[in-house]
Amino acid sequence: MDRIKKPLCWCGSKAEYSTCHQEFDEKIRELRGKGYLVPQRKLIKNTQQIKGIRESAKINIAVLDFVAQHIRAGVTTQQIDSWVHERTTHYKAVPAPLHFEGFPKSVCTSVNNQVCHGIPSSKVVLKEGDIVNVDVSTNYRGYYSDSSRMFCIGKVTETTKRLVDTAKECMELGLKQVRPWGFLGDIGQAVSDHAKKNGYAVVREIGGHGIGLQFHELPWVSYVSKRGTQMVMAPGMIFTIEPMINMGSHRIVIDQSNGWTVYTADGKPSAQWEIQVLVTEEGYEVLAY
Ligand code: MN
Repeated sequence: MDRIKKPLCWCGSKAEYSTCHQEFDEKIRELRGKGYLVPQRKLIKNTQQIKGIRESAKINIAVLDFVAQHIRAGVTTQQIDSWVHERTTHYKAVPAPLHFEGFPKSVCTSVNNQVCHGIPSSKVVLKEGDIVNVDVSTNYRGYYSDSSRMFCIGKVTETTKRLVDTAKECMELGLKQVRPWGFLGDIGQAVSDHAKKNGYAVVREIGGHGIGLQFHELPWVSYVSKRGTQMVMAPGMIFTIEPMINMGSHRIVIDQSNGWTVYTADGKPSAQWEIQVLVTEEGYEVLAY
């Protein structure tokens, strides 16, 4: 007697569809029917892909840990770039920002009133009182990771410290909203509520992003969105939570001389923390931080 082969799952797990994503698809169909924005299949990572992305994220964390151990007053942002390049290649990985859409360096270093995409330079010397975001992204065997941290150089003013701390709290409160079948808008609401409560503004034009098989994938993650709106979070989705919190106005300007670096329009400081998170069946798993 012949055995009829049961169809395999579309996710690439090599498992039978009925035991893999069949239930998932029913849930997606139900939510789509209700008019919600649901993720495309290509945004859902399988176990093997998650394993690869987790390995990449471990390198990303190690590189940021190295920066954390060595960053201090007197260091140039070019020095940080050299550390990131050296450490990343040491782990046989590639710094994802290098040559990405023409970006000239291996890491973004955004100082004080720079919101993001600061370009490392031997002319930028970190000094006591500065705050700097170091945004590291790694490509390891085609799997991508991305996270960033703020560093306070020496002693910073109480006002500046409060901005840095609040930006971290915003990221953490956003993370707490991650759960299967919730909405990305739940994250945006939590972030913007906390920023507003503390007298700060959230950058609107730049958001987080899906990541894993490419550096930047869908969805685009806003931090000024409303609860119960935007894309549904489904198990297997991976994206970043990286709100940019401004001390003054939310308005930003892009440096026309390099086409990359984003500044606050009013010249006041901005702070950002970024983590990379996987939506699981139970809640979430932080991959890179
Ligand atoms: Mn990112």
